[in-house]
Amino acid sequence: MRSKDVRPEAPLLPGRTIGILGGGQLGRMIALAGRAMGYRFAVLDPAEEAPARPVADVFVRGEFSDRAALLRLGAASDVVVYEFEHLDAEAVAALAESVPVPQGTALLRLAQHRALEKAALSAGGFPVAPYAAIARPEDWPAALRTVGLPALLKTTTGGYDGKGQWRLRTAAEAAAAEAIVRAAFRETGAGRSGEARSEGDAAGARFILERELAFRAELSVIVARRADGAMATFPPAENVHVRGILHRSIVPARVPKTVEERAVELARAIATHLDAVGLLAVEFFWLKDGALVVNELAPRPHNTGHYTLDAASTSQFEQFVRAVSGLPLGAVRLWSPVVMVNVLGEHLPALLKALPTLDPRFKVHLYGKAEARPGRKMGHVNILADSVEEALRLAEATGVWPELQAERENP
Ligand code: ADP
Ligand code: MG
Repeated sequence: MRSKDVRPEAPLLPGRTIGILGGGQLGRMIALAGRAMGYRFAVLDPAEEAPARPVADVFVRGEFSDRAALLRLGAASDVVVYEFEHLDAEAVAALAESVPVPQGTALLRLAQHRALEKAALSAGGFPVAPYAAIARPEDWPAALRTVGLPALLKTTTGGYDGKGQWRLRTAAEAAAAEAIVRAAFRETGAGRSGEARSEGDAAGARFILERELAFRAELSVIVARRADGAMATFPPAENVHVRGILHRSIVPARVPKTVEERAVELARAIATHLDAVGLLAVEFFWLKDGALVVNELAPRPHNTGHYTLDAASTSQFEQFVRAVSGLPLGAVRLWSPVVMVNVLGEHLPALLKALPTLDPRFKVHLYGKAEARPGRKMGHVNILADSVEEALRLAEATGVWPELQAERENP
């Protein structure tokens, strides 16, 4: 029987092999959770020292653009998933001809392209920040006029952890951004005026200009969804970003219950509308006027769900494996208030120094990355305490994260 004849509803049982496109920390934590359940793992990644490699049964070293490498992963797998969205969707679609890819490629195409994602959310009636797609240099003046300042210029593809983004607050910064946009179009010669406008516009957009919203808090909700539509959600996380990178997640979020409920409802509605299978993380801005606006989507495990590894009865990684395998979704209970703090390259030396005397309420997760570059995600810490305030105090007292002290002194 060829793998593609496996009906998606037939559960994939332990003993079978799950292939993962991407061997970063998310792939590593998926494999660690799935191995505990009895699954085998095959991982594709271009990096010799990919974090998931030591916990995989099979490692295929190759570029994600290398279709032969993708097929090699597929041949070693009973099902293939992806742990990041910056993939060639055509190549993943080709792979899906020979092996089930339960997450599919439709949502992948949206989640890897900010203009398509925003257009799909708007079309579905979900609130997004005012934005304009920029498909050619001539689009700039109107984009700036409709969006106004302050704004963020974002590349439509390839961005993550605040990369590919420029914050525009002044006319001078807007002029500099226009130069970036014009140079980008000049370099490739694409996006000439006179090209068909209309529906190709979102797909052809190279940038979006998006209004910068003055939010009270950022929230995220992770939804697990199976192919048959069954869903389970994790408690919303309150997220703080520093320089575009997630610094910490706070659970329960310090927002009214009604806001939490609305966020969960919206996330479930989006997962259903987009027919997500596996996990869908939905990032929100909670605005001063009480409105919830969707920031972006991730069709995979998400950094803001790492708290579930220690503080919830089912982790996002186990839930992901259950969802793509067609097993029953696990019950999600929050055992304790928790604060998850990311360990970036610049935090690692201080964390390692503090490790031998760390408070027993700290749960440390490190990804086994050799090189600790500034801004690189090396690990995270889950701090389980009687309240999130106490967990935040414990985090600050370690001195590992100077940002915590700086924020308290300069809120
Ligand atoms: P990434 O893919 O890098 O996570 P995001 O669009 O989520 O990109 O942006 C990263 C962070 O930058 C957000 O979590 C938020 O803190 C800030 N940000 C992005 N867009 C806006 C916006 N429109 N208004 C205010 N802050 C924003
Ligand atoms: Mg984001």
